[in-house]
Amino acid sequence: MNIFILGSGGREHTFAYKIAESKRCEELFVAPGNAGTASIATNVELKVTDFEAVKKCVLENNIEMVIVGPEDPLVHGIADYFAETSELKNTMLIGPSKRGALLEGSKQRAKEFMMQHNIPTAAYESFTAKSLEAGKAFLEKLKPPYVLKADGLAAGKGVLILKDLNEAKQELENMLTHSKFGEASSKVVIEEFLDGIELSVFVLTDGKNYKILPTAKDYKRIGEGDTGLNTGGMGAISPVPFADDILMKKIEDRIVKPTVDGLSEEKIDYKGFVFIGLIKVDNEPYVIEYNVRMGDPETEVVLPRIKTDLVDLLEATYHQNLGNFNIEIDGRAATTVMLVSGGYPEDYEKGKEISGLESVEGSIVFHAGTKLENDKTLTNGGRVLAITSLDDDFRKALKKSYQNIEKLSFDRMQYRSDIGFDL
Ligand code: AMP
Repeated sequence: MNIFILGSGGREHTFAYKIAESKRCEELFVAPGNAGTASIATNVELKVTDFEAVKKCVLENNIEMVIVGPEDPLVHGIADYFAETSELKNTMLIGPSKRGALLEGSKQRAKEFMMQHNIPTAAYESFTAKSLEAGKAFLEKLKPPYVLKADGLAAGKGVLILKDLNEAKQELENMLTHSKFGEASSKVVIEEFLDGIELSVFVLTDGKNYKILPTAKDYKRIGEGDTGLNTGGMGAISPVPFADDILMKKIEDRIVKPTVDGLSEEKIDYKGFVFIGLIKVDNEPYVIEYNVRMGDPETEVVLPRIKTDLVDLLEATYHQNLGNFNIEIDGRAATTVMLVSGGYPEDYEKGKEISGLESVEGSIVFHAGTKLENDKTLTNGGRVLAITSLDDDFRKALKKSYQNIEKLSFDRMQYRSDIGFDL
C-alpha cells in the first residue's frame, strides 16, 4: 500500500525507516520530511495542519494509511476530519480523535481524566485569571518546589518548576494575566511536586485493546549531568534498566489498563500511540503527563526494537484487532545521541554542511533538522541528527553511537557525552 507520514523530525525519519523496510509498503510519502526521509521516501511540501492539502496528497497518490507524527494536527482534529470526509473515510489514519488528543491538548482535561479513572497522579487544582488570588492561596498551602503548568499546548515549554513561593506567585500571575504562554496559559494547573525518577511508557491502542511498547528514558537538559536549559531531548535509552517486571506490572494494572478502559468507557475514538510520562516515587508509579503521539527522541530507540512489521501492527490498530496481535520486541538495548546546532535551545544558525555521513558504520543515523541542497546535506534546525545503536546492553550501544559521532561534523556541532550517566 501507499503510506504517508506527517512530520519532519527524527521521530518521522524513524517511522519512515521502519515502514520502508516493510513488505507491505509500496510507495512512501513524508510531509514535509527532511534530508533523511528524502533518501527513502518522497518528501511533499505542505503544512501538516493544512488538512485540505493533506487530503489532496492522499487522493492524488492513492494513499491508504496516514501516520501522524506530531501533536498539532491531532489536537486540531485531523482524525475527525478524515472520519467526516467521504473520500477519506476508508483511509487508515493512525492517531486519536480530537477528544482523545485533548489528553495532551489540555493539562486540566488530562488531570480530570486521571481522577475520574483512578489513575495515580499528583494532587492538583486549576485556576484562571478570575481565580488568581485563590491560586496564590493554593500555592501557600503547598510545599516547595511549586509546579505550574499552562493548560494548553506550549511547544513543550509550558511547565515551570519554582523553588521560591513569591516567584511562583509572580509566575502564576504572568501566566494567567500577562499571557506568558499566550492562550495556552489562560488556565493553569498547579500540582504537587513529585520527587522521583522519570521514565516513559509507550502504548499502542485501538481504543479497546492495547500493546505496551518498549520503555524509554530521555535526557532533556542541554548540559551534561542534566543541567542547563530544557531541550526537545538530547538522547534516549531503551529499555529503562530500573523498569523491572514488578514496576511494569504496577504500571500496566494501575495506569495503562485504566487509561485504555477510560477511553473506551468515554467512547473516545483512539487509534494510535499514548506516551505516558511517569515518575517513580518509592517504587510507585505516578503519571505526570499524557502525550497522544510518540516522543522524540524516544521513537529513535523504541521503534528500532520492534521486530513485528510496523504496517501490519498499525493496520491491526486501525481495525481494532490488536487483541489478537502478537508483537515481537528485540531483546537488545537501543540508545540514541542527538547532535544539535551550537546555541540550541536558544538562537542558532542553520545551513551548515554536515560531513561524514557516509562513513557511519554499525549505527543508524536518523535525521531531524536537515535538508538537501545541491546534493549537500545541511543543518536545518536545532536538533540535527540522532545517532541510534543497538547492542546487548546500553553501554555497548552507547559506545557505538559515540564512536560514529567522532566521524560526523558540522560547524558548532554539539552533543551530550553523558547519555545514560545516571543509570
Ligand atoms: P510535563 O510537560 O507535564 O511532562 O512536564 C515537564 C517536566 O516537568 C516533566 O518531564 C517533569 O520533569 C517535570 N514535572 C512535571 N510535573 C511534575 C510534578 N508533579 N512533580 C515533579 N516534576 C514534574
